[in-house]
Amino acid sequence: MISIVCDACKKAIPGPEKLTGVKYVLDKAICKSCAKELDRQLAEEMGKRDKYKLSAYRNLYVKTLYKMCS
Ligand SMILES: [Zn+2]
Repeated sequence: MISIVCDACKKAIPGPEKLTGVKYVLDKAICKSCAKELDRQLAEEMGKRDKYKLSAYRNLYVKTLYKMCS
């Protein structure tokens, strides 16, 4: 059995949640609550900007994700 560890909070993701509660982004696996936190940080950061650009969002997404997983 493979155990999946959240790359952000480093907690093992329990059995049933492996199917529904894991979000795979790039080469990272993050749990539900960390995915929520990532969304929250992104929304907050994007809210500060006057223009919404997809490329900026993508950059920020990756940056925030790697910050959380470092
Ligand atoms: Zn987590």
